[in-house]
Amino acid sequence: MELFKEDRLNEYLGEAMSGKRDYYEILGITKNSTASEIKNAFRSLARKYHPDKNPGDSEAEIKFKEVQEAYAVLSDPGEKRKYDTFGHNRPGGSPFGPGGFDGVNISIEDLFGGGFESVFGSIFGSAGRNRRTKRQRGADLLVRHSIPFQAVMDGSEESLEFEALKTCKDCSGIGSSTPEGVRECPACDGRGRIQRIERVGPFTQQVVSDCSSCRGEGRIIQNPCSSCRGEGRSNESTKVQFSVPPGIEHGTRLRMSGYGESAKSETGDPGHLYIEIEVEEHEWFERDGADLLMAVPLSYADLVLGTTIEIPHLDGDVLKIKIPSGSKPGQTISLKGRGLPNQNSRNRRGSVMALLKLDIPSKVSRGMKKKLLDLKDEINFSEEELKDKIREEANSRRRG
Ligand SMILES: [Zn+2]
Ligand SMILES: [Zn+2]
Repeated sequence: MELFKEDRLNEYLGEAMSGKRDYYEILGITKNSTASEIKNAFRSLARKYHPDKNPGDSEAEIKFKEVQEAYAVLSDPGEKRKYDTFGHNRPGGSPFGPGGFDGVNISIEDLFGGGFESVFGSIFGSAGRNRRTKRQRGADLLVRHSIPFQAVMDGSEESLEFEALKTCKDCSGIGSSTPEGVRECPACDGRGRIQRIERVGPFTQQVVSDCSSCRGEGRIIQNPCSSCRGEGRSNESTKVQFSVPPGIEHGTRLRMSGYGESAKSETGDPGHLYIEIEVEEHEWFERDGADLLMAVPLSYADLVLGTTIEIPHLDGDVLKIKIPSGSKPGQTISLKGRGLPNQNSRNRRGSVMALLKLDIPSKVSRGMKKKLLDLKDEINFSEEELKDKIREEANSRRRG
């Protein structure tokens, strides 16, 4: 006597009883085939047997339906597991209902693109899927919040107020003025969705749509709550407090879990609140990560003779910039450790980079003009010196 392992036995019995071919055999694959192998096998067979390619061929039509059925089951992890255990003889009858599989309408184009996947994705358990969507989280919210530039140096404690749909307090979210006033929608048996079969050419297609009697809610409210008009949620002003870490970048989104909209159903979790941080501009600094860039306009005399300038700084200490004698416009002076805190390691700070610029006065007084003319003779070049300078410039430019 031949011994069968239990699942193999069921498969054997199933085949024997229904006279149906094994799904794996139909697709020419094995139980160990991966999801993409299953998909590829289906795609090439469905292309081969598609009625557009085999007009009037009833055998191809049967085969086309057969590969569709096999793929419908094997591409759905839950159905595949049941099939692997029970074969065609699963408890509860055919997963496609008493009439068995009816074929779905997929075009040749769908088989080239990925269009067929969504068709098959909606065949099974739409009731189960509905139940899952009913428990979906509330919507996420995005609010923008500005902080002064100084907060990037120090970090700060911020607060903001915003409006969000929250579970109605008067009816605890049921939407009805009395708990007894809610009943299951008779049109959809509380599922919120209606399934119907549509016939397209030689095929039938299962179409799922929102129930119109209850607008997809699955329930009907007889005496709506006056505060939320039966919605179960109403707009409520909420205040949140949050910390801005030092070194934060403009455009960073901080997430506060559970501070978004309440879910539509009483059982769902609320969404998240995202706070997008806008850093206000500084009077003179531009920012490059943790580095602070600024330009320092200087007179000709300061560049030639050198000087030290002192300006107030974000870290509370005076920013001393020493300009050495003989500095040229376009040079930068870097002050290490005086920039912003590094976002990743906060005790390391960036640099302040000061770009030296030559400031040319747009107006000169008569007295100053006279002095400049006196100076001019001393500092201007001879023709020979000028040519040397021009050559020097060209060389340094070419050397990069
Ligand atoms: Zn309904
Ligand atoms: Zn209410």
